[in-house]
Amino acid sequence: MTTVRALVKRAADELADAGVASPRHDAEELLAHVLGLTRGALVGVDEVSEEHRRRFVELVERRAARVPLQHLTGRAPFRYLELAVGPGVFVPRPETEVVAGYAIDALRAMGGTPVAVDLCAGSGAIALAIATEVPNARVYAVELDPDACAWAERNLAGSSVTLVREDAAVALPELDGTVDVVVSNPPYIPMDAYDSVEPEVRDHDPAAALWSGSDGLDAVRMVERTARRLLRPGGLVVVEHADVQGESAPAVFASAGWWLTVRDHPDLAGRPRFVTARRSPRRLAS
Ligand code: GLN
Repeated sequence: MTTVRALVKRAADELADAGVASPRHDAEELLAHVLGLTRGALVGVDEVSEEHRRRFVELVERRAARVPLQHLTGRAPFRYLELAVGPGVFVPRPETEVVAGYAIDALRAMGGTPVAVDLCAGSGAIALAIATEVPNARVYAVELDPDACAWAERNLAGSSVTLVREDAAVALPELDGTVDVVVSNPPYIPMDAYDSVEPEVRDHDPAAALWSGSDGLDAVRMVERTARRLLRPGGLVVVEHADVQGESAPAVFASAGWWLTVRDHPDLAGRPRFVTARRSPRRLAS
């Protein structure tokens, strides 16, 4: 038997040496995962069995090799949810919770049965958050990648979300001009940021969820065109972007000639993170 304190301390030191950003947190999460407990419940445990210790040490080694924590536990928290995640799907991030929250607040304020579409839905995190927090909304999740779709299917099973396996650029033509909110966390990392991206992201999130042309805005431009097609006049688009795109992402909307009240918004760390705009009923004079 080994004491929990000693185990966590050793693991946290090893993770810190490996460059993991939150070594103690991750060590505790992994131990709690092995024991089938929440991290908070670890304080009630003094010692662990040899079998549990062995499994824990194995996971810590993989985490030290920079496998994402969420791939090791198979879970990612997102707002009130826990999503199933693993290889083949983008791990939901805290900053996207704010993006989803903006769409959720707007849908709530609409009443009736508002229609929402999540483009590039990945694990289904945003769509599922909307469906659970705005139960009167009709929600569609659009995702093309088969591996991501398999995870989304699992996460959305039993929910009211309709999963559409299609290219977002052409998806849901039957909804053209009728959608109330289009929300998206598309791929957006500029190619020249490659070297500054953490190994957990670069080597384990799907490339299709990360990169999008040299300025990172190819998918944002596609989302602009698709949102323009899907939204009703006055409908709202909400699109996440990189912190270096606080001017260039809003410019995609401002220069398109179809958007009113283009605004940029920060995430919880105060970095530029998402753009919102309202669909104009008609093309604007340039
Ligand atoms: N937010 C991701 C990251 O920080 C980038 C890609 C995305 O969210 N669309 O790695």
